Amino acid sequence: MAELEKYIRSVPDFPKAGINFKDITTLLKDAKGFRMALDAMQAEVDGPIDLVVGIESRGFIFGCPLADRLGAGFVPVRKPEKLPAETMQREYELEYGTDRVEIHRDAIMPGQRILLVDDLLATGGTMAAAAHLVEALGGTIVKILFLIELTFLNGREKLEGYPIKSIITYDAE
Ligand code: AMP
Repeated sequence: MAELEKYIRSVPDFPKAGINFKDITTLLKDAKGFRMALDAMQAEVDGPIDLVVGIESRGFIFGCPLADRLGAGFVPVRKPEKLPAETMQREYELEYGTDRVEIHRDAIMPGQRILLVDDLLATGGTMAAAAHLVEALGGTIVKILFLIELTFLNGREKLEGYPIKSIITYDAE
């Protein structure tokens, strides 16, 4: 996917020193690049999907159009205190401290076939927490899909057993 990689901008030392931030805004603003990314992600989905679950906030950007393309509904996994109705919550470890993601308790019916989407896999903590919530509500995870994976952070280790696909991989900072 060398062609797609050209649309992604790397911003050194953002949001803090030592992080090489993969900026997708340069891809999103280009109609051809954005469509190419969605086409590549859609091509990885084989079976029928009931719901696309996207993680706030960049998971929404890819998850919503994919849901529409797949004829599926969309469910947001959000940062704390954003969802208005009753939620289920999951904490996960950060480099320093913890964070939390939430989902509406009535968002998924047992047995629904779920595609989980985020823009980027780094350490895997965020997606592992989201996957836990989906399964706690009885959803069946058909696939976990990322546009970008930073393979050197070994995020896959936290997602063992799930079918994972990322379109663009970076092997080093
Ligand atoms: P993680 O839980 O470590 O896998 O982090 C994943 C989340 O953090 C994703 O939602 C990404 O959007 C964001 N993220 C982490 N590292 C980067 C990075 N180097 N560039 C852009 N986004 C990142």
